[in-house]
Amino acid sequence: MTIHRCKRCNFLYIDEEQKFQFEKLDDSWKCPKCRSSKKFFVKKDVSK
Ligand SMILES: [Zn+2]
Repeated sequence: MTIHRCKRCNFLYIDEEQKFQFEKLDDSWKCPKCRSSKKFFVKKDVSK
């Protein structure tokens, strides 16, 4: 599964728990916690 972590607040966006994959989110999407844009997120591949 794929996880994206916000570099500012450590919010985790877990694709499997969300309606949309992170990559498919609009560029105007913002971190729900700190309102950072997508570019502040780092991708993490987690193997099961
Ligand atoms: Zn954040």
